[in-house]
Amino acid sequence: MIAEVIVDIASSETDRIFDYLCDGKVAVGSRVRAPFGGKTLPGFVMRLKQTSELPIEKLKKVTPCDDEVPALTEECVRLAEKLTARYRVPKALVLRLFLPTEMRTGKIRELMRNYAELLRLPTAGELSARAKNQLGALEYLQKNGKTDCAELNNLFPGGVAGLEKKGLVKITREQILRDPYKCVTGERAERTLTADQARAVERVERDERAVQLIHGVTGSGKTEIYLTLIAKSLAEGKSSIFLVPEISLTPQMLAQLRSRFGKNAAILHSGLSAGERFDEWWRLRTGEAKIAIGARSAIFAPLENLGVIILDEEHDASYASETAPRYNTFDVAYLRAKYNGCKLVLGSATPSVDTYRRAKEGEFSLIRLAKRINQRPLPEIVIADMRSEVRRGNNSAFSFALKEEINGCLENGKQAILFLNRRGYSQTVMCKECGYVAKCEACDVSLTYHRDEDCLKCHYCGAKYTMLSACPDCGGVKLAYAGTGTQRIVTDLQKLYPTARILRMDNDTTSGKEGHYKILKAFGEKQADILVGTQMIAKGHDFPAVTLVGILDADMSLHFSDYRSRERTFQLLTQVAGRSGRAEEKGKVVLQTFDPENEVLRYAIGYDYEGFYQNEISLRAAMAFPPFSKIVRVLVSGEDDKKTVEALRTVYTGLEALYLENSEKFLFFNKMRAPIKRIQNKYRYQVLMRLCDTTVLPQIYEICALARTRDALVSVEENPSNLS
Ligand code: ADP
Ligand code: ZN
Repeated sequence: MIAEVIVDIASSETDRIFDYLCDGKVAVGSRVRAPFGGKTLPGFVMRLKQTSELPIEKLKKVTPCDDEVPALTEECVRLAEKLTARYRVPKALVLRLFLPTEMRTGKIRELMRNYAELLRLPTAGELSARAKNQLGALEYLQKNGKTDCAELNNLFPGGVAGLEKKGLVKITREQILRDPYKCVTGERAERTLTADQARAVERVERDERAVQLIHGVTGSGKTEIYLTLIAKSLAEGKSSIFLVPEISLTPQMLAQLRSRFGKNAAILHSGLSAGERFDEWWRLRTGEAKIAIGARSAIFAPLENLGVIILDEEHDASYASETAPRYNTFDVAYLRAKYNGCKLVLGSATPSVDTYRRAKEGEFSLIRLAKRINQRPLPEIVIADMRSEVRRGNNSAFSFALKEEINGCLENGKQAILFLNRRGYSQTVMCKECGYVAKCEACDVSLTYHRDEDCLKCHYCGAKYTMLSACPDCGGVKLAYAGTGTQRIVTDLQKLYPTARILRMDNDTTSGKEGHYKILKAFGEKQADILVGTQMIAKGHDFPAVTLVGILDADMSLHFSDYRSRERTFQLLTQVAGRSGRAEEKGKVVLQTFDPENEVLRYAIGYDYEGFYQNEISLRAAMAFPPFSKIVRVLVSGEDDKKTVEALRTVYTGLEALYLENSEKFLFFNKMRAPIKRIQNKYRYQVLMRLCDTTVLPQIYEICALARTRDALVSVEENPSNLS
């Protein structure tokens, strides 16, 4: 037999298929060790065949790795081929998306642990009273049963070995399966679907189309619909993939999945330790778990026989990968749904303009849930005009209306969420004498002051700088703090409400696997009255006692130069507002703005998605913006400015030729510096294009793949959500 093999090295020289001889133990998707230029390299079998174009005697032989099952399923192998062709990145790089790193680096052995089990109790005099550690270990085993030897040795060094020698305990080597979410527990809430939910489930099952969009207002009970679909798929012996924007933000969801599906659910999450991630992956690969839950990358879960794929909050920007290969989760999900002949279910209260258009035009089925569960009203949104607040002498971050609402909320023992999409204490630190602004040395951006650590941080690369005592340019000591961040909000809030218990949730307070979970859990258990946070708090949370949401600066995301900033603002405001009044008590939202007439805000206040969509889609059509065109950015970056510019030149020459030959397919073509000229010491340049005909896209990818050098990264981004 002959195997077509890809070696696991992401370089252009090895980026092709090599033929090898193999034996019957090798299957499609197997990991093998392949002799290659005097070395032995890890590789993967893409295909098996009987003949090769090369003479048989020239072929070398691969050795199979002794995995129980091939690392990759047949579907994954075929999918990898499609993605490689689509995004023009090295094949090895694409294959890596499908595997936990441990699988590739071969460190799986760590999974085996020694366990001690008590066989019998010692006879009188068999154990000396001085053998403290043996006695300790014995007692421990008696009380706790089978225990990890490492744990025993921590408590009673050497004790267990002594016991084994005497034949009192048996030690066995077993695979450990870690439980990364031991802390996540919840009540099993078995619910009867409402009529609306049941209708939605039925529509999904009955409709022929592969893609189903559930457009349901916040609190309409979409989660229950997903869980029902997953349960039905499980009952048929099929597996499911359930994607959420950011898994660490959804402990409630995890708790529900856990209580409902137990060990059938596996959680794939970047916050897990490498070993934990491997375990979860392994349980899916062997079929022990049939439900994969996770963020974007869980779309590559090694499941066979998929019954349904769910993309919750389908509009979320996190579904577009920002590292090579820059795949779009929907595209991958769609391929998998097609391959498995299953449904792809998208859900959102604020679908992306693109998705909604495709649903309206009949390409996707459109299922609406216009009401919250039990006809609960959507919270009332009132506008606080910050211009008039300033005129009335209020320069604080809180309007009078908001302060009054917070008072009421605290008096009634209810909870409030305050949203500000900017972390840190203040946005910039400026010298009042000369206008100097503190900037990152590695990035072309200003630094943010963090008061709790008394330092300056770069939000692009994470670098920390000691706080300035004087201006490094002019020596002036009058430093101004401009732009309020979440830290400052908490400080100011605490002054206004000295007895209120306040929690803050942003990138600075949520480090570690359980960082998000702890804050959300504390808030959910009413250990705090007010939660202040960035957009993390907007996503999907369901806190029944929250009756007030304050949006401190609704204008902030409106004025970005990106064509999607209006859409993003509408989505964000609707999502944040949707956290209020989800239980019996009616909710309220105070939205603070300097631009109260703004139409995007108007649509958000009226919960008028349809109106927003109509307005937006006609604007996009008039401007020929997506979905009526495709924006493509080619980003060239590298540490050496000269070499980066060289690569840019190659790219540009190629693209320009393409443009000149096909100018009717381009609406826009230009090269320039990227808006942020340097990030993490890398210089950045871009070629920006807008296409009215995407048939040139494969050529664009081709040109960029060829221009990539060791010193310059060349990446292609389609409709990028971030143009920095
Ligand atoms: P969405 O995801 O649409 O914003 P959720 O799925 O979070 O909404 O549901 C909103 C609330 O309604 C949750 O508290 C949930 O527990 C509750 N809920 C959902 N379905 C039902 C049902 N069939 N019966 C009673 N309560 C439900
Ligand atoms: Zn930086």
